[in-house]
This record gives sequence, structure tokens and C-alpha cells, in this order.
Amino acid sequence: LYPNIAIDGPAGAGKSTVAKLVAKKLGYIYIDTGAMYRALTLQALRDGVDMHDPEALGRLAGVTPVSLRNGEDDRLRVFLNNEDVSEEIRGPEVSGNVSYVAMVPAVRRRMVELQKAMAEKGGVVMEGRDIGTVVLPDAPVKIFLTATTPVRAKRRRDELAVKGSIFSQEQMEEEIIRRDGIDSTREADPLTKAPDAEVIDSTFFTAEQVADMIIARVQP
Ligand code: C5P
Repeated sequence: LYPNIAIDGPAGAGKSTVAKLVAKKLGYIYIDTGAMYRALTLQALRDGVDMHDPEALGRLAGVTPVSLRNGEDDRLRVFLNNEDVSEEIRGPEVSGNVSYVAMVPAVRRRMVELQKAMAEKGGVVMEGRDIGTVVLPDAPVKIFLTATTPVRAKRRRDELAVKGSIFSQEQMEEEIIRRDGIDSTREADPLTKAPDAEVIDSTFFTAEQVADMIIARVQP
């Protein structure tokens, strides 16, 4: 059985880029848990569900088929039913509301259950906010990835630039500070470092360098 790797941290720390690289280099499966919360948020927006109605959001989580699949050239794709929503979930409407959906305990229970099942056979690199603390507490490799706020905002902007982001640097800093604030103060599974996670500050390293640091911690 290959070990699982858990990567947590605030928005824009480079978790997806690094996790994808680690997975590619090791031949592991990459799992973006944030994409699952984003897909559910998109469904809630489409259905006109009140973002501050935990009961309605919990019910929606129970009946919405969110799944992750491998697309062409091994790119991870996110599906709602059979619709590929990988691009749409990166938009500002979803980003602005996802933290309200993710704070609902019933939503988290459902997502955590799906995520645990995906990691059952080992060999996954899973990235999110509560992986080391809740989803994979026994993962032998746990990383808490950070970077300064300006650098995180810049990375997020560069990422979105390709898709036509209109956020200024200042707006993007505000947006990630706001989202990290909600994510780290919610009652259910808040964003926090697992006691046994290792902190890596990626501010002055490339994704490639961080990926290699993580791989060095994997005992085959
Ligand atoms: O990683 P990403 O920025 O796509 O995550 C979007 C949001 O999903 C986070 O801001 C957080 O509210 C939620 N999330 C979570 N638990 C995870 C992953 C993401 O609550 N494991």
C-alpha cells in the first residue's frame, strides 16, 4: 500500500500546483477537495439556495452528485452529474460564496465521507483545509503550506489571469484574507495545522522545489 500525502494551508499558498507536481512525480492520484466544495456551491447558486440556510445546503449536499475524474492529458476534471464544471467553479461568484457552503457541518460530513473513500487504497496526494486534521488523520506525510499574503494573492491572480481575472492585487489580498478568516474560524473542521504536520513556507521557493521537499519525506 502506498502512503497518502495530506497538504493543507490557506488560499493561494500553492497547494494545487505543488500537489499536482508531487502526484505526477510519484505516479499518485491528485485530489483537489476544494473543487468539490466549489462544485456544490455552483449547484447551490444555480438552484437559488440561500447561502445562509445550513439546512437547505446540507440537504443539497446529500443529493448532489459531485465527482472528480481524470480528463485528457491527466488533467483533473470536476463534474456535477455528467457536466464538466471545472472552469465554471473558478469564477468569482463561486469563490465568493464557497466558504459559506463549506462551513455547514452536514456538507462537510458528506464531502469527508467521499474523500476518505477516495483515499482508501493509498497513493493519493490530497489537498484542502482539513485533510491532515479530519479526512486523513493517519497520513504518514502531512504538510501545512503557507506563504505571505502578497505572494499568495499574486499567485492566485496569475492563475486566474489566463481565464481573465479582473481583480487588482489589493482586491485579491482582501478576498483571500476574507476567505481564510471564515475558513479558520468556523466551528466544523476549521482550517488549522495538524499537530503533527510540517510547515513549509513556500514564499521563496518554486513549486518544483516544494514538491521535491515533500517527496523527500515519503518513505516508500
Ligand atoms: O482550495 P480552494 O480555494 O479551491 O477551496 C475553496 C474553499 O473550499 C475554501 O475556501 C474552503 O472554504 C473550502 N474547503 C474546505 N475544506 C477543504 C477544501 C476546501 O472547507 N478540505
